[in-house]
Amino acid sequence: MTLGLVVITGAGSGFGAACARLFAEDGHPLLLLGRRTDRLEALGLPRAVTGAVDVTDRAAFAAAVAGAEATYGPTDLLVNNAGVMLTGDPLTQDPAEWDRMIDVNVRGVLNGVHAVLPGMAERGRGTVVNISSIAGRKTFGPNAIYCATKFAVHAATEAIREQAAPHGVRVSVIAPGYAATELSSHITDPDTRAAYQAAEASLEGGLTADDVARAVAYVYRQPQNVCIREIVLADTNQVA
Ligand code: NDP
Repeated sequence: MTLGLVVITGAGSGFGAACARLFAEDGHPLLLLGRRTDRLEALGLPRAVTGAVDVTDRAAFAAAVAGAEATYGPTDLLVNNAGVMLTGDPLTQDPAEWDRMIDVNVRGVLNGVHAVLPGMAERGRGTVVNISSIAGRKTFGPNAIYCATKFAVHAATEAIREQAAPHGVRVSVIAPGYAATELSSHITDPDTRAAYQAAEASLEGGLTADDVARAVAYVYRQPQNVCIREIVLADTNQVA
């Protein structure tokens, strides 16, 4: 059986890299996207096309998908994973950081949907998995705008799922809790960053990237007539 193309954004680190390894082990051809191609290539995975694509660039995203599909056939799974978390106090935070989160976490996800959904609908099959967060289900004090972007991911996923369902296409959202990846290293305020990383450390790092990748695989491996609409997962010791 020919396995379908799996497209993963933010595949050079964290959850995206773990997904890339898992789907490579399963034998899928891959399109791995991110801005740092050295990180994508360093994964050294077979049948993997890598693309230096910023997910906020709609045309570049779509062109990368079209290029990989020309080699490996249509996209059967998109893991819309790329994201940034610039935790900060909305009273003092530079709104340019808000723009960045909205652009990557919301527009980037929608650009992925745009690149693959019409083709999936035409073929009557396909899966889109959007990576949101527990911050997309409830708000956390210093994370206002990040929460807003992840609430948007939850809302868009459910609404797009309803529109895609009659075409036989699955659209799912996965909401992980704390996982010590590179994500928090981009927080610009040193005190906020330290507090966030202390919370991660109190959970001994929380989830692993492999824990999240297995959740993505669980969604994808269901028969096409079963849509796992949402998974929320966190370290057992995570209270909030
Ligand atoms: P990482 O920082 O390790 O991964 C994020 C990835 O996104 C990077 O590989 C980065 O690659 C990519 N990325 C960022 N901006 C862009 C862009 N503009 N265009 C293309 N790629 C981009 O963190 P995680 O693995 O933890 O995060 C993955 C997802 O999981 C995110 O959406 C995050 O919000 C979400 N999440 C994370 C949690 C956690 O605790 N870690 C918890 C809940 C959700 P590059 O810089 O090369 O472009």
